[in-house]
Amino acid sequence: MSLKRPGRFRNSLTFRLTLWYAGIFAVSSIVAFFLFYKLITSVVQEKTDQDLSNQAGQFAAVLGERGIVAVENLALFEAQAAGEKKVFFRLLYPTGQAFSSSNMAYWEDIPIRKEAIGQLLGGAGPVIETVILTTRKDQVRILYAMIGPGVILQVGQSMESYTRIIDAFRGIFLVTMALLIGLATGVGWFMARRAASGVEAITRTAQGISGGTLERRVPVKGRGDEIDQLAMTFNQMLDRIQSLVVEIRQMGDDIAHDLKSPLTRIRGMAEIALTTGKSLTEYETMAASAIEECDRLLEIINTMLMISKTEAGVEKPSRERIDLAGLVREACELFGTTAEDRGLTLSCNVPETCVIAGDVRMIQRLLSNLLDNAIKYTSASGKVAVSLSQIEGQGVALTVKDTGSGISAGDLPRIFERFYRGDRSRSESGTGLGLSLARAIARAHGGDITVESRLGQGSVFTVTLPSSEKDAPA
Ligand code: ADP
Repeated sequence: MSLKRPGRFRNSLTFRLTLWYAGIFAVSSIVAFFLFYKLITSVVQEKTDQDLSNQAGQFAAVLGERGIVAVENLALFEAQAAGEKKVFFRLLYPTGQAFSSSNMAYWEDIPIRKEAIGQLLGGAGPVIETVILTTRKDQVRILYAMIGPGVILQVGQSMESYTRIIDAFRGIFLVTMALLIGLATGVGWFMARRAASGVEAITRTAQGISGGTLERRVPVKGRGDEIDQLAMTFNQMLDRIQSLVVEIRQMGDDIAHDLKSPLTRIRGMAEIALTTGKSLTEYETMAASAIEECDRLLEIINTMLMISKTEAGVEKPSRERIDLAGLVREACELFGTTAEDRGLTLSCNVPETCVIAGDVRMIQRLLSNLLDNAIKYTSASGKVAVSLSQIEGQGVALTVKDTGSGISAGDLPRIFERFYRGDRSRSESGTGLGLSLARAIARAHGGDITVESRLGQGSVFTVTLPSSEKDAPA
């Protein structure tokens, strides 16, 4: 399955991130341009207005000092000096009628606005306005000011040079912005691809796995970012799945192996009885052996079921208040005879009472598995010591210590696995399920089981359990 189907591109994270990146960049650039544009135009306008006011002031001074003729000459002179296509001056009566002006050939379209004169006469001070000449697409800033009694000056200045600067700025800005948006899209795409490539690698690995092998892992780039963390978590999950699958396969093999031997034996016995059996006694012996083998098979199957249910939480231990000390004493009494028969000393050191919240039958099973092992793997004249103690704030600790064969360092980490049996234990009867069940029971009660052992010197199994209701798991 390809990751890059064309139809999917528009839905892809890369595409959407790039779009967002370019979009946000474009909007911010437009806002920045707009603010800058506003700033420039208002600065230009303020500068023009200032020039016009200065000129009105100059005209008023000349009128006051040298009379109207001097003002008329000044208008002609100033317009010529600045350029007759850049400024004009018109002198008006308060009625709005012009009585003198600079060369107005270029400014024929400029009206004399009665409203502006009315405003001026109303005492509102100089009136400034912008007139747009549609014929030339030119903007003219015009000021009306009283420069003396009964004399109004209308002065106008073309904004053409400023408009050209602003237009050039707009052109440059638009080109630059287009380039920058292009660049931003490229950078956004590159960054989004970089981020998404990690996710794609994980998807590819997951697809590869569903295709068969569990060995594949996602490469971790070592950048320590979220993608790396996702890759590491994904790899850890794969490690767990792989070990579970290996465990399940191993268990399948073990089950097949352990069920095969008794079945082969039953079949062999039946075959011998059929071919060679003559007397009723021989048939009876065969039937008894077959029952024994079947019981063994049933025990294996039942124990397996019990481990699975306990581990999966299906078989939840009941939470009765039970006296663990009493249960340990009973177990010691029960196994006392077996220990004696094998020439072992079994000692039991427990307090008067020790109350825990738990399941009697399960705890009995746990105790018998540990005691059975301790006796089984300890040779004559050895010692098995059982003790129980309360640990402040940590529940209770039950230890089963023996001076038996001990467990090799190679076997030690595996003895709690289902069907695992130490090499030296093959001579003893057993299924390899006892300790798995003991651990499942301890954990289901909110406790655990640990072991310390030295080959040839003996072993110590320690079970810790919560001491009362409040320490027990819900
Ligand atoms: P088994 O039926 O073989 O006893 P268990 O699950 O009870 O199965 O134990 C697993 C293995 O752990 C045993 O085969 C044995 O090698 C080792 N083991 C358990 N208890 C002891 C012990 N007290 N002393 C020495 N080895 C032990």
